[in-house]
Amino acid sequence: MAPTEPPLHVVLVCFPGQGHINPFLRLANLLSSHGLRVTFVINLSTARQMKSLSPSSPSAGAAAVHFDFFEDGQDEESIKRVPLDHLLTLLEHAGRKALPQMVQNYAEAGNPVSCFVSNPFIPWVSDVASSLDIPCAVLWIQSCASFTTYYHFHNKLAPFPTAQDPERDVVLPGMPLLKHDEVPSFLHPTTPYPFLATSILQQFAHLGNVFCVLMETFEELEPEVIRHVSTFCKVKPVGPLWLSARASAGPGDLIQADNDCVGWLDGQLPGSVVYISMGSIVAMTAEQRAEMAHGLLGSGMPFLWVARPTMDEGDDPDLGLPEGLEERGKVVRWAPQEEVLGHVAVACFVTHCGWNSTLEAIGAGKPVVAFPQWGDQVTDAKFLEEVFRVGVRMGRGDTWTKLVRREEVERCLREVTVGPRAEEMKENAARWKREAEAAVKPGGSSERNVREFVEEVKKRSV
Ligand code: UDP
Repeated sequence: MAPTEPPLHVVLVCFPGQGHINPFLRLANLLSSHGLRVTFVINLSTARQMKSLSPSSPSAGAAAVHFDFFEDGQDEESIKRVPLDHLLTLLEHAGRKALPQMVQNYAEAGNPVSCFVSNPFIPWVSDVASSLDIPCAVLWIQSCASFTTYYHFHNKLAPFPTAQDPERDVVLPGMPLLKHDEVPSFLHPTTPYPFLATSILQQFAHLGNVFCVLMETFEELEPEVIRHVSTFCKVKPVGPLWLSARASAGPGDLIQADNDCVGWLDGQLPGSVVYISMGSIVAMTAEQRAEMAHGLLGSGMPFLWVARPTMDEGDDPDLGLPEGLEERGKVVRWAPQEEVLGHVAVACFVTHCGWNSTLEAIGAGKPVVAFPQWGDQVTDAKFLEEVFRVGVRMGRGDTWTKLVRREEVERCLREVTVGPRAEEMKENAARWKREAEAAVKPGGSSERNVREFVEEVKKRSV
């Protein structure tokens, strides 16, 4: 009898941010449901924060996904305080050392690695893969529009805003014109975070090392730009991953979710509640929180608000919200967002427009008030408002430093919930939900792309 072949083994290496962990876990589950052996690799101190995932039980979390960790010299608390630029260096140093040994261990255990999937903030993974002669793909976790914007900037294929011309518009193939405050902010000459651009752009210097760019988007959502990107890069849209692998996000939460808020939503009228969340990194300043709170009170709508103190405010201060606010809604530190957005009581979503939140809103069919702060969020906000036509943008220019007043909050909430324009946005949102669900169903564009990816891994491993 011929010896049985070990199953294909895909190793996903993840950057330790919530907005990275969620799509990576979802992809891990999805690939595993296609019969592949999947190992999810992350640094140890972050793994220790992941709820319901214990590093001592490597198959915890999603049933069939294996977990493995590399030592980063940090503990659960200290890792949260490492500045991002240092974190990138620390991970590269620790990861470059650990990955080859892990690969050897897997091979010795009878599970040689067939393919790596790397993450935009840790492009060195593709170097390690090349040096070990293992195929490598990347999972791009922002929109295809952001991808092409970074690509054109990196390769100097189009003029972008400069210190001399900071308000220049950007024109790219397959894209609507981007105003200067719609270009991913790390590419803008005024960004206080140029190292983030450097880090993201490194991915483009490493593109030659990867055989495929899996993308957390779907063909029907960004058809023109995906078509254009396909002319210079092998791109496979496989999203929205949260719709095809719902169960996988749980073990990845870095903050304990307040599950009582779903019970609270059950007691609200259908289509009545505003859900507000700024993702895992952005936190509103005390002043902005006060304006938001008064805007909510002025709107008269019940609300569920994920609010946390800023880094400068420390771990657990009073959020300083107006008296009586909590009689009208619920404030939590972390919500089970997929469940919340899917809830019939939720009318609209005030979002910072991180790409995961954007796709979660699209997949749940909820109109949005787009309140972007930095990075690709400003580009996502443009698409939500003008291309997908499911929302309005709140605040313009550098909202990171500019205060959005209560009147503006109230006006935007009315605009997405009352009147003919709101009805149109609701219909558009419902249509996107149907398109997103169709993309991940058997035979849908994303499902087909995942199957093609699996076939390609197979071919490359013989
Ligand atoms: N999220 C959540 N509960 C919250 C806030 C956020 O589960 O209370 C999840 C959200 O569903 C999304 C991720 O955290 O999957 C945030 O990613 P995103 O790209 O939207 O923003 P980032 O945190 O990277 O800025």
